[in-house]
This record gives sequence, C-alpha cells and structure tokens, in this order.
Amino acid sequence: MDLLHRLFRKKHTLTLKVTSPNGFHLRPVAKMVNRIREYDAVITFNAHGKVAKGMQLNEILSLGLNKDDWFTLTITAKDPQTIATELERYFNDLMNADEAMVDNSARARGENPYTSRILEATILSDSIACAPLYPYREELREADEHRPFGEALALALDALALESADTADRLRSEIAAVHRELLSEIASKLSAQTQMAFDQAIEEAKATLANTANASKIADYEDIRQRVLAHMGYRLEPVYPDTPFILLADDLLPSQVAPLTTSKAAGVILRRTSPAAHSAILLRNTRLPALICEGTIEADEAIVDGALGIIVPDPSEDDKALALKRSKEYRECAEAAFLHRHEEALTRSNRTIRILANIADLTSAKEAKEMGAEGVGLCRSEFIFTDHEPSLEEQTEAYGALFDLFDDFTIRTLDVGGDKGLSYIKLPHETNPFLGIRGIRLMWTHREIIAAQLEAILRAARNRPIKIMFPMIATTDEFLEAKELAQEIAARKNIAISNIRFGIMLELPSVIFALEEFDKIVDFYSIGTNDLTQYLFGIERTHPTLSVPVDAPILMNALAYIRAHAKKPLSICGELAGYADAVPQLIELGYDTLSISPALIPGIKEKIRNV
Ligand code: PEP
Ligand code: MG
Repeated sequence: MDLLHRLFRKKHTLTLKVTSPNGFHLRPVAKMVNRIREYDAVITFNAHGKVAKGMQLNEILSLGLNKDDWFTLTITAKDPQTIATELERYFNDLMNADEAMVDNSARARGENPYTSRILEATILSDSIACAPLYPYREELREADEHRPFGEALALALDALALESADTADRLRSEIAAVHRELLSEIASKLSAQTQMAFDQAIEEAKATLANTANASKIADYEDIRQRVLAHMGYRLEPVYPDTPFILLADDLLPSQVAPLTTSKAAGVILRRTSPAAHSAILLRNTRLPALICEGTIEADEAIVDGALGIIVPDPSEDDKALALKRSKEYRECAEAAFLHRHEEALTRSNRTIRILANIADLTSAKEAKEMGAEGVGLCRSEFIFTDHEPSLEEQTEAYGALFDLFDDFTIRTLDVGGDKGLSYIKLPHETNPFLGIRGIRLMWTHREIIAAQLEAILRAARNRPIKIMFPMIATTDEFLEAKELAQEIAARKNIAISNIRFGIMLELPSVIFALEEFDKIVDFYSIGTNDLTQYLFGIERTHPTLSVPVDAPILMNALAYIRAHAKKPLSICGELAGYADAVPQLIELGYDTLSISPALIPGIKEKIRNV
C-alpha cells in the first residue's frame, strides 16, 4: 500500500528568494518547518551546493541563507504543484512579515560589524567599551578582631551547615552542603590544627584536580579556604585595578553594583544572572555596557558591545578602532538625547508616550527628575525598610520628600519576599519563596507593617493625588482587602483620602483572566513584566541558568491581550519598558505610558521620537 502510494508521487521544484534583511533565520525557518510538517510530502532545500531536509531545522539553518540568496525547494508528493503554490505564498508572507519587523537598530538586523571572532551575549545594558578583561577577585583584609584557626574552622563548618539547611535559596544551600562536605574532608586529614597545614591541604587538593575534567572545582576549594580565613578575622573585599577594565564575574550582589561606578570599570560581563534579577536592574542604571555570556572567555581584552549583544575577545586593531568609533557615536547620540530629555516623547505619527520613572529612594527620585521623568510610575518603597523597621514619622517624612518632587506619583507598598528579605522580620521557611509570602501577602503575616506604611503614605500625601499600588495581587478579593485596610486606617485616623487612587501591579497571570472584574474596582494597573514573565513561564527571575528573552513572543501576546481588554489606565513598569528594541512594539500594541529606570529616560524618549 505504502509502495503504491509512493508510486503515485510526483516531483516539483520551486525557486525562492530570501528578501528579508534578516536573512532566513531561526524564527521564519521554524515556522516554515512547522508548515512543511503539515504535508504528506518529502521536501528538501537546496542551496549553495548543499541539501537540507525540509523538516530539519538545523540543516536548513546550516545552509546560511542571507538576504538576496536563492534556494530551491524540491517537493515530492501526490500533488506537489499545489503544495508548491501554498509554500511559495507562505514563505513570501514570512519574508514580508519579517521585513516589517526590522527595526533601525543594527541588533535587529542581526548585524555584526566586527571582523574578529565574536561571542553572542544577552544585553543587560547597551553602551560600548573595549578594555582588558579582569576576572572578579576578592582580597582578604585584616579586621581588628582575630580568632585562632581551630575556632574559625569550627565556625565555618557551622555556618555552612546553617546555609545548607536554608531552603529559601536552594542553589545556595546545595552549594553550601557540598562545601561543607569538602571542608570536613580536608579538616579530617589535617596533619596539624594550623592555618599552614590547612593551606597546604587545600593546595594539595587543588593540585590533584588540575588538568582533570573536574578542574572547575578548584574554585570551590579556594572558596572554602577564604571562608575559614574570613572567620579568622579577615574581610573579603573586591579588588579592582586602577586602570580601565571589563569585569568578568559569575554574578554580582545588588550591593556590589554601586561601588563599580566609582571604580575604573568600563564594562561588565556576567556568566550567571538574568536580565530581571535585581542586580541586573541596578547595573542597567549605571549605563556601563553589560552583557550576560555563559561560556568561558579566554582573552586578555575584549570589546563589550552592549548595543549589539556582542563580545569580541582579543579584537584586532581594526575592530578596536571600530569599537571606539561606535562608542563615540553612542555617546554623541546619548548626549543629543540628553539635551532633549525634558521634552515630551512624541512619535512620528504624533502619539504622546508618557515616560515615568522607576525609583527606589530619594537619590534616584532626584535623578529621575534630572533625567526628564514626567512622574514616578513605580516607587519601590523597600528602601526605607532595609536595615531597620522604620517608625511612622520616619516613613511619613521620607514619603513626603518624594511626593514633593513630582505631581504624578505611584508608590508601591512593601514588596518583600522572593529574592528580597528583611533582616528584622521572620518570614516562614518556604520551599518556593517566589510562590510564598511575597508582596501584599505580607498583609496576612505582618499586617501591622503594611498598616503602618499605608498610614504614613496617607499622611504624607496631604491632599496630593497620590496613587497607591499593591504588589502581587492575584485576586479581586486581595485587592479589596488591601484597599479596605487603607480605608479603615483613614477613617480611624481621620485622614481624607478622596485624593488617593488605588491600583495594582499586574504581575500575576491570574489577573489577566479576571480583567473584567478588576476593571470594576481598580483605578489603574501597572504591568510588572519581570514577575509576569517569571510566573507565565514558571522560571525564577533570578535563576542562574534558565531565562526567558525579555521580549518573549508569549509575553508580548499577553501584553497584547491585556491592552485589548483592560479598561482602566494601564502602564508598564517592568524592565521590558526600558528595552529600546521592544519599545516600538509596545507602542504599536497601544501602550502609551512606560515607567523605566531614570538613566534610560533620555534614550527611550529619543527612540520614541523615531517610531
Ligand atoms: C516587576 O515585577 O516587573 C516589577 C516592576 O517589580 P519588581 O521588579 O520590583 O518585582
Ligand atoms: Mg514585581
């Protein structure tokens, strides 16, 4: 039967031309392959003297079809002519759609202007630099207090045991367990209880690993050595050179970002982070070019091209000159944008896009003002809670100082939990903290903290039109409960609140399916794409190896749906709103209020003027 079936098959060839400036790249190839799978046919691609099977994505990609290249489809089927006609139309539609998506930026064109070997990387921050690579290094500094080796060793083992039992950060706890194992093994073999014997044992352990498949574990031994030394009374501090450098690190703690700006760092390459991690958000605001690249970079110097998402290890002299030129042009564009930062952002078709700022304290609020923000779309209010529990007066004063700066101000209530903790409140141990007591859910465990904050906000508002935004709202009941708490406080403390608007961070997928109900009760929404992405894809925003592109098509579909259905004022305050490449698409979807990091405001306004 099968043989008979095949006997009736005919062959037809069709020649097609790649017309998109992006070439025949991954997305259209994937769509074409899916389409081909629908047919009962054998289809091959022929180009540059090579043949690729029509259902093999990799084979087709390896043909390397660029703009203006021709290729032939050979179709063997019962009715190849009809399939050819359909596929020809489908392919041309794909090319046209892809061409329409072409943005002016070189990255969107998939352009690589460098001649040396390049590494592709994920963009965290988009300027350009070239400098020697400098692997992150910490040095031990002596503190005033010292401990004998034996005591420090016991303390290090205890601390590792504690860390390995902490389920709040699973990766860290697993590493701590491994390190504890390594340390107790070393400790059991010590010839004497001295630091010298310990150092010797560590060096021996490292030597046995050198040149083996496990050479990467050498760093683990160094890590446990430094731990013990830290307990002996030495502090670990990052050491930076005093000439320009590109920092190469696994990841940075949020607290390590600010000191970088006063160092000679010209750029940053991180191996393990994601664009939505809080340290990445801070890094973006420094304007240092920053990229994520998982692989090892063995080179003395490198170009970090944050505009294109390209790293050029050991670049040629020509490429260095090119990077310098690009960096100069980038700075000139940034300076031109800076001159117009206080002007509104008007698209070519005369649509006004409001640009608000995401701020995190009084300093960033002032910076936002200086950078041309038209208001604050997201005030992350955690700043006042970080090291102690603030009093009502302290909070009222701090919020008042912020509200004085802008006529349009959205303050988000405390959003801790997940990757943000507070030392003085005890959250329950949770296996999945991002799915636990986070954001407004604190209202159920620490009601007094949220109540005090609401009271301070209401007092500081003093008849000003302030917007209060609740984070991590999943259901309408939660929003009503939070709003009622504010109303109750206002009634009890005799504070008029007709000036206050109440809204939510739209960051949990459940809200998307209840927009009609939410529309009846909220005054506004602000979409937190960082968390929305995390919860849509089920991938922790801080996960070291898993990540989702900031403008993932599924997220864009969700944004299209929200824009089409939500009736109340809507803005975006997640990191996506500050991605220049995504802005034209957001505008096209109908978004007209974006809240972004202060440093990005001039550039994004300029981008909008060209949309
Ligand atoms: C978000 O989730 O997108 C957001 C803006 O809030 P945060 O990054 O502070 O969670
Ligand atoms: Mg969030």
